[in-house]
Amino acid sequence: MSHPKTVQEIVIVGAGLAGLIQYRALQSRGFKPFLIDPRPQHALGLSNADTRSTALTPRAVGLLGLSDDWLREHGQQITEMVVDGGLSPALRREASLNLDSGAWVVFNRDLTQFLLDTTDIQGRFEQAVVGSAVEGGQRIVRLNDGHQIGARVVIAADGKNSQLRRAEDIQSHQRDFHQTALTGRIKHTAPHQGRAFQRFLPGGTLAFLPLRSDDKDGNHASSFIWVEPTSKAKGLFSLSPDTLVERMQVRFGDALGTLSAPQDPAWGQFPLRAHHCETIVGERLALIGEAAHAMHPLAGQGLNMTIKDAAALTEVLVAQRRLGLDGGDGQALLDYQRERRADTARITALTTGLHDVLDRSPAPVRALAASGLEMIERFPPIKALLRREADR
Ligand SMILES: Cc1cc2nc3c(=O)[nH]c(=O)nc-3n(C[C@H](O)[C@H](O)[C@H](O)COP(=O)(O)OP(=O)(O)OC[C@H]3O[C@@H](n4cnc5c(N)ncnc54)[C@H](O)[C@@H]3O)c2cc1C
Repeated sequence: MSHPKTVQEIVIVGAGLAGLIQYRALQSRGFKPFLIDPRPQHALGLSNADTRSTALTPRAVGLLGLSDDWLREHGQQITEMVVDGGLSPALRREASLNLDSGAWVVFNRDLTQFLLDTTDIQGRFEQAVVGSAVEGGQRIVRLNDGHQIGARVVIAADGKNSQLRRAEDIQSHQRDFHQTALTGRIKHTAPHQGRAFQRFLPGGTLAFLPLRSDDKDGNHASSFIWVEPTSKAKGLFSLSPDTLVERMQVRFGDALGTLSAPQDPAWGQFPLRAHHCETIVGERLALIGEAAHAMHPLAGQGLNMTIKDAAALTEVLVAQRRLGLDGGDGQALLDYQRERRADTARITALTTGLHDVLDRSPAPVRALAASGLEMIERFPPIKALLRREADR
């Protein structure tokens, strides 16, 4: 590879939530990161860009620096999680967990807009990274227009199929759940009162997270994630929004009153795969977010893990700079790996295990239905993920 055309302090590849969160964390500590993404810059915050929502743990809220005012305007605090084993046709309150942990549900689209509004983004857009190499104390990334950009450290935030991870031959252990998730926003006539719902159904789940409502007609809003085996999801999720909502209502019951599709549903489909990597660093390279790990969304931990990745990597880079040392130094990047890899591998394994238990064996589902609240106490993965993890 010839000499780079441009040199930057830190390059971040990928402007999804992971890349934007990392960008903001670094910029707020005085770095000048540079972002690369194939999408046009104006498309990053488009209203239908991300149809998911996230329950942010208090730790994640703190790391993101979301103010009380912003949370009150855009977020909804979860007060209770109602869990159901899916044995009866509609939801029954079989287990309930009071979540006094202060988790906030935010729509990913609003979080993206917050990140765009509070950063001054420098980068190259409408360009994908197609290759990279280490040369002269820099990692140099090559864009599809042939332009080359070098930096002492490159951060791969380029998602599940990370080009940088594959090009570096970093082993990633993949697990295809053969499930697809439909996600989006839904209206309902009864107030959610801060309650989240999760129905574990044969072959999938139907979950609702409470959203702050801005509906002038007095409708209330939640975000849903409906997971079905991919073979079934294809036909089901291609139904018209109104027909789909009717099916959803039958599967869920009336705990939220009558469900209805918003005017412009903009719902999104996601095939579900988990993966974790042998290593999350390479020469002058650090992987964050879904480039480094992906997990089943049933415990809602993926983005929370990503936020911790970005915070840990920022601290490592700040410490190196304080000592006048190279941010891309191998030992420093290993510090980042030590801080994050075990944590994400543990949560990925836990969520996969939880999925397998609920999916493959009818017995725990029956137990779930039979033993009510006690089940939560006796079922450590759920307890750990819904309560203890929320405080981490
Ligand atoms: C259905 C579903 C529900 C979820 N629910 C939750 C939840 O409730 N709670 C939670 O904490 N987490 C949740 N997650 C996880 C969370 O959404 C992700 O962790 C989060 O969106 C971070 O994604 P990312 O930025 O790493 O990857 P992506 O969003 O995939 O972004 C990758 C970016 O890289 C860019 N890119 C790709 N290739 C290149 C290239 N070659 N060059 C340059 N740029 C490139 C892409 O354009 C994109 O902008 C869920 C995930 C799914 C699938």
